[in-house]
Amino acid sequence: MAVKKTQTEPQNELTKLDKLSAYEMVNYYFEQAANKLNLPEEYRVAMKGTYRELKVQLLLRMDSGELKEFTGFRVQHNAARGPYKGGIRFHQDVDQDEVRALASLMTWKNAIVDIPFGGAKGGIAVKARELSPRELQGITRIYTRKIDLCLGPHKDIPAPDVNTNATVMGWFMDEYGRRRGYSPACVTGKPLELGGSEGREQATGRGCLFVTQDACEDSGIDIRDCAVAVQGFGNVGSNYALFMDEQGAKVVAISDVSGGVYDKEGIHIKKAMAYAKKNGSLEGFMPNNRISNEELIELECDILCPAALGGVITLENADRVKAKIIVEAANHPITPGGDEILNDKGIVVIPDILANAGGVTVSYFEWTQNLQQLHWEEEFVNNELHKKMSKAYRRVQSKSKQYGVSMRIGAFILALERVFDAMKMRGI
Ligand code: GLU
Repeated sequence: MAVKKTQTEPQNELTKLDKLSAYEMVNYYFEQAANKLNLPEEYRVAMKGTYRELKVQLLLRMDSGELKEFTGFRVQHNAARGPYKGGIRFHQDVDQDEVRALASLMTWKNAIVDIPFGGAKGGIAVKARELSPRELQGITRIYTRKIDLCLGPHKDIPAPDVNTNATVMGWFMDEYGRRRGYSPACVTGKPLELGGSEGREQATGRGCLFVTQDACEDSGIDIRDCAVAVQGFGNVGSNYALFMDEQGAKVVAISDVSGGVYDKEGIHIKKAMAYAKKNGSLEGFMPNNRISNEELIELECDILCPAALGGVITLENADRVKAKIIVEAANHPITPGGDEILNDKGIVVIPDILANAGGVTVSYFEWTQNLQQLHWEEEFVNNELHKKMSKAYRRVQSKSKQYGVSMRIGAFILALERVFDAMKMRGI
C-alpha cells in the first residue's frame, strides 16, 4: 500500500480506516482483493451483502425471579459454496454490525480451507460470566428456538465461539432435536458423547500451530528459538500456548480478561491451564510477574498470537509491536490502520481467515461424521486438519506472491475467487 505514515494527509487516511465499523473493515479488505481481481461491481455488491439477518428478543427468567430482556442475532452471509456455517458468541459487546462482519469472515474462511460451507455467525449480547449454569442453559434454549426457522444440517450449522463451548452446543442440539427429531449434524463442537468429533476442542489452536510452523519454515526461523506471547487464554489461546510449548518454543507471556503474566524464562503452560480451570481465570497466577493486556502486545518476542477479541492492534500501538510473526487466532484482532503499519514494518501477519480456520475445518469433519454416523480416530482428524491447513497456507502464500500483496489480501483473493466461481456456476 502506498500510504506514508509520516505525512499528515495519509496519516489521516489511516485514522479514518481505524474508525470504520467491523463490517466496513472486512469490506475494506474485500475491496482491495476485488480490485486485484477486477471483480465486476454487481458481484461486489452481491458478495459483500448478507443474505439474511435475524435479530431476536430473548426473555429470560433470572435466578432472582426477575424477567430480563436480551438480544440475539444470527447473520447468514453467503451460501454459494454450501450451507451457512459459523459459531455463536455470548459477549456483552455483540451487536449486529460485528456479527455481520464475523459472518462475512466465515464465508471467506471456509472458502480458503476449501470446505463445503458458506458463512454465518450468531451471538447474544450478554455478560456470559455473570450467568448461572441454569441461566446459561435457559438463554441457549430460548435463542435456539428463536432462530430455529433458519437452522438445519443442510441450511445453517452453528458451533462454539467466544464464551460458548461443547456443553452449550449439547443444549443447542437437544433443543433443536425436540422439534425436528434427532439431528446431531445440526450443530458442531458438541461433546464427544453426543456425536462431537475427536480433536474438535483443540482444533483451532492446533490449526494455528500448523500455520505457525509453515510461516517459521518460510522465514527460516526455528520454533525452538522463539519467544511467544499469547493474548487470550480461552480454548484457542491456551491450546496454542500448549502446542507451542510442546514444540520447544518459550511461551513468555499469556493473558486473559484478568490481565497477564510475563516471564522471560518461559511460563509453565500446563500449570497455567490447571490454574485457570480451577479458578475461572488467571487472576492471582504468578502474582509477581503481572503485566497488562496492552503491555503483552508490545513485548519483546518472536511470535505474537492475539487469541481474544477484535481490535487489539491498532494505529495506536502497531508501531510498538516487536514480534516477527503475528498469528491471528482471534477474529479481526488487527484494525486496517494497524495492519498497514505492521506490513510496512515487514511483520508477517497470518490472517484470521487462514490462521484460525482449524476450528471450522474440524467442525466440517464432525458434520461429515454425523451425516455418515461414523466416528473417526483423533490421529486421523489431526492429520486431515494438518493437510487442510498447510494446503490453504501454501495457496494463500502463492496468491500473495502472485499479486504482490500481504497474506491477508492474498487470502481474500483466494476466497473471493472461489466464492465468485461458485456463484457464477449457480447462475447468480
Ligand atoms: N467460531 C469458530 C470460528 O470463528 C468456529 C466456527 C465453526 O466451527 O463453525 O471459526
